[in-house]
Amino acid sequence: MSRIISVLGSTGSIGTQTLDVAAQCGFQVAAITANRSIDKLEEQARRFRPELVAAYDETAAAELRIRLADTGIRVASGMEGLIEAATLPSADTVVTAVMGMIGLRPTLAAIDAHKRIALANKETLVCAGELVMARAAQEGVEIVPVDSEHSAIFQCLQGCADRGEVKRLILTASGGPFFGWSRERLQNVTKEDALKHPNWSMGAKITIDSATLMNKGMEFIEAMRLYHMPPEKIQIVVHRQSIIHSLVEYCDNAILAQISSADMRLPIQYALTWPRRTNAAATELDLFSCPELTFQRPDPDTFRCLGIALECAKKSGTTCAIMNGANEAAVNLFLHDKIGFLDIADLVERALTIVPAQSAERLDAVLEADCAAREAVYSHIS
Ligand code: MG
Repeated sequence: MSRIISVLGSTGSIGTQTLDVAAQCGFQVAAITANRSIDKLEEQARRFRPELVAAYDETAAAELRIRLADTGIRVASGMEGLIEAATLPSADTVVTAVMGMIGLRPTLAAIDAHKRIALANKETLVCAGELVMARAAQEGVEIVPVDSEHSAIFQCLQGCADRGEVKRLILTASGGPFFGWSRERLQNVTKEDALKHPNWSMGAKITIDSATLMNKGMEFIEAMRLYHMPPEKIQIVVHRQSIIHSLVEYCDNAILAQISSADMRLPIQYALTWPRRTNAAATELDLFSCPELTFQRPDPDTFRCLGIALECAKKSGTTCAIMNGANEAAVNLFLHDKIGFLDIADLVERALTIVPAQSAERLDAVLEADCAAREAVYSHIS
């Protein structure tokens, strides 16, 4: 099994683990990109010797060009650089591990270039899921999920010839650091509290989304798009131990679960090797040392972000793009100590009432909805 991969967002948590997997499996790396973490990009470029390195930030790219002058590696910049990395002729697979809406255009470009997409960028499917899935189907491109829950579902669906046999998808949620807390207690949550996730180590934005449960709401929408399931056929179950990564229930009431250690290198590797499996980069799970497995109902009333996402999931058009843009802006404000923890949901809800939803058939409409939602959030505090 050999692969030649381009990694968009190579310096983040998923990106660095993707490069670990590539090293372990002997996959070639054709391109790496980041926003402006040039120390890490330089180190990765020297180790993996890609054909192309791209920094989204122009100043960072200029500096990197000087630093990598002795290597002969080409350095690109901006959105053009990301798109070039996503469409590089020598690569067969693109891992989209960039955070946020910025991942949308490079993902579409990679689909048009007929790359396998190992999708780790949630926003792509949340904001423009219908558009992206339709384009992939039309181009005959495989989109394989990297997110642990969607990978688990994907694994449990292998061998299922007729999706009509699926009764429901069951998405597990760790519940985040504040599971069981009241709204009064959540009022005083600080950035430091929210950045401590019990089971997974991830980037700041997704860790906050995990604490508000917006992450689970986004994953619910992603699952709808990836597997063409209506919202009533998807259930969220709080499973604190993060050992079962999600489940599929079939019409005969059989439930298949995917169980492994909480190690992202497994879903990353599977997205690259599917339909095959290869020796593991991920750590083994010792069943004898597993804690007791528990299952509880989520609380979308206390964790309003989850409630909002579940409501948006039922609506079509740009609603989910507005929700996502507002959430990205609100989380950014929270990370800069400008607003409180509960304000995140309030600001998202406010943006949804201010910005009118439109049809999401055009990419422009999605991008406009995203901008308008961010503005609605930022204008509230300035
Ligand atoms: Mg996840």
